[in-house]
Amino acid sequence: MMRQYELVERVKAYNPGADEGLLNRAYVYAMRAHGTQKRASGDPFFAHPLEVAAILTDLRLDDATIVAAVLHDTVEDTAATLDEINRVFTPEIGKLVDGLTKIKRLDLVSKRAAQGENFRKLLLAIAADVRVLLVKLADRLHNMRTLQHMPAEKRARIAQETLDIYAPLASRMGMQELREELEDLSFVNLKPDVYATIAKRLSDLSAKSERLVESIERDLAAKLANAGIAATVKGRQKRPYSIWSKMERKSVAFEQLSDIFGFRVIVDEVDTCYRALGVVHTTWPMVPGRYKDYISTPKQNDYRSIHTTVIGPKSQRVELQIRTTEMDEIGEYGIAAHALYKDGAPHLATESGAYQWLRRTIELLAEGDSPEEFLEHTKLELFQDQVFCFTPKGRLIALPRGATPIDFAYAVHTDVGNTAVGAKINGRIAPLLTELQNGDEVEIARADGQIPPAAWESLVVTGKARAAIRRATRSAVRRQYAGLGRQILDRAFERAGKNFSDEKLRGALPRLARQSTEDVFAAVGRGEMFSGDVVKAVYPDYKDERRAAASQPAPGQPRPHVNGAGRLSLDKDQTVRLTWPGKAAAKDGAAKDGAPDEGAIPIRGLDRDLLVRFAPDGGAVPGDRIVGILTPGEGVTIYPIQSPALAAFDNEPDRWLDVRWDVDGASNQRFPARLALQSINEPGSFAQIAQVIADHDGNIDNISMKRRTQDFTDVTIDLAVWDLKHLNAIVSELRAKRVVSRVDRVNG
Ligand code: MN
Repeated sequence: MMRQYELVERVKAYNPGADEGLLNRAYVYAMRAHGTQKRASGDPFFAHPLEVAAILTDLRLDDATIVAAVLHDTVEDTAATLDEINRVFTPEIGKLVDGLTKIKRLDLVSKRAAQGENFRKLLLAIAADVRVLLVKLADRLHNMRTLQHMPAEKRARIAQETLDIYAPLASRMGMQELREELEDLSFVNLKPDVYATIAKRLSDLSAKSERLVESIERDLAAKLANAGIAATVKGRQKRPYSIWSKMERKSVAFEQLSDIFGFRVIVDEVDTCYRALGVVHTTWPMVPGRYKDYISTPKQNDYRSIHTTVIGPKSQRVELQIRTTEMDEIGEYGIAAHALYKDGAPHLATESGAYQWLRRTIELLAEGDSPEEFLEHTKLELFQDQVFCFTPKGRLIALPRGATPIDFAYAVHTDVGNTAVGAKINGRIAPLLTELQNGDEVEIARADGQIPPAAWESLVVTGKARAAIRRATRSAVRRQYAGLGRQILDRAFERAGKNFSDEKLRGALPRLARQSTEDVFAAVGRGEMFSGDVVKAVYPDYKDERRAAASQPAPGQPRPHVNGAGRLSLDKDQTVRLTWPGKAAAKDGAAKDGAPDEGAIPIRGLDRDLLVRFAPDGGAVPGDRIVGILTPGEGVTIYPIQSPALAAFDNEPDRWLDVRWDVDGASNQRFPARLALQSINEPGSFAQIAQVIADHDGNIDNISMKRRTQDFTDVTIDLAVWDLKHLNAIVSELRAKRVVSRVDRVNG
């Protein structure tokens, strides 16, 4: 097991300014925490985090990463807590350990459903700090190196996870060396026989080809030197897994593989790469279609190199990679080397370019061809059901395919969803119902005091959004009703001459069989409970004399003029519709398709039909703009918007409902309207008036006359008409009559 001083020495070798005290503290802390724990191999457990740290010192990583590696299993496996680590070390280290602990809890080869979510969590934990991934990969590498001690079925599972997820991730991070070792270790555990066969053939071949490889190396180096190019040439055999996957992919036999050996030409400068390429291509014939310039167009993981294949010295196909030393390091160690070069020091701060680079990598992984390519490697078919989008700040949001900005907004935060009013996708304004694509950057425009339209509920694809919309609309309706109920109760107590307070109401809750005052307000607002009953519950001695009187229409009082009692109901889009007996069935069917009409403010959550009547003094006809006034316990009264009677409700906005007509032209329904006329007193004048109305197919329901003067009579006519146009035609015709001096519509 590595000693304390050895760890410090390893770090100091590449980072003389390393914090020795910190490293020592980590060593002692983890050693104590793991105590006598043993690994499956029988070794002390503590050897494992030390080996992980050692792997990372090879990558020349910063103190925080090394310390996090030493501590990485303490929170999950020992009595150590994150709080303690934050205290004893630094919050930076605490964050890294936290990320590692979270990843450790993920089961990435679990059931499909959980897998996607777990993978998302993994990406998020990584995206938070690239060093989490570096430690995780080193952790996995050491576990893979010691996998033989695990029970067989556990081995297969861990190896599969490594092959499906960690090896591709390492590749994505450009860490090819690590990737190759992970792949081979997985391979040997998953298919030991195949591995053994290929490994055997490779070693046979390399024994046979040893001289060939050496001679090619020499030839290449000599030709380059002749051209004045200083280069290192390295021959390299492919690894078993990479051979096998190529055999599988191209379904070819081992013998048919022509590129088991590859050669690397490493030079100092970028332009030297091209000069070296020139020498190679003018010396040996190039194999068409194999030339690739990843220097001018680097791969997405920042890999840069020139690739070419030539027919070499012994008429052998020779694969060549030409690159600079820096490109070579990045090609092997990826993000770790990249960070090293970027910062010029072995320091990998959270806000460094490396983080940005990882972010971009994750972004790229999620867009365009990359996910398919990634999928191919990872076998994560579930990615095809997902889209990855980003907030303007770069946060990754994974959503099911078909998701819209509404889903996105709710995934970011429930408050963002509830207040969303618009969206920008990749900087352009887009409808909230746009289907999101991989890689979209989505910005949500918000407005305070917004309530999500209930219609969204059927348009979103994520459960989170649906539940949140349902919750928001329910509580908004409840608030609305509770506000109304409170006003009604305030007035009821005032009329009764009794004091009212929440405190007093609370005392009466048992008598009202309600849990809270809010419940009572909402019940009164909904009309499920009468204000008088609440007054009585609070003041049991109180006698409500008005109520008995009010519940019966006074004898002789004219019946409110309602031509047919309608029902107010909610359709699918939660828009209030007025329907009348006999029409309800048809309208229910028709209502299904509709999105909410613009301008109609949907009211939501009404779970029952309400009785509808028309303004008693004047009515309303289709074509009128109308509003409904909600009277708890009674229903809704429809007024034309111009009705002066509405002034009485100005201070009760909660009672106002925007409603719209739901009648079509073919309807034979009539609606009430009232006209006030002044007619000249002469014989037959009333007959003329009645004739006009009859000519226009209007029904007179009621008529009252009052002689004003000797010359004039005031006439009030209650009519039943088809609609406003019908009514206006009658009014115009009446105005044209000599016996009629004026006609006005009455709005009660
Ligand atoms: Mn571990």
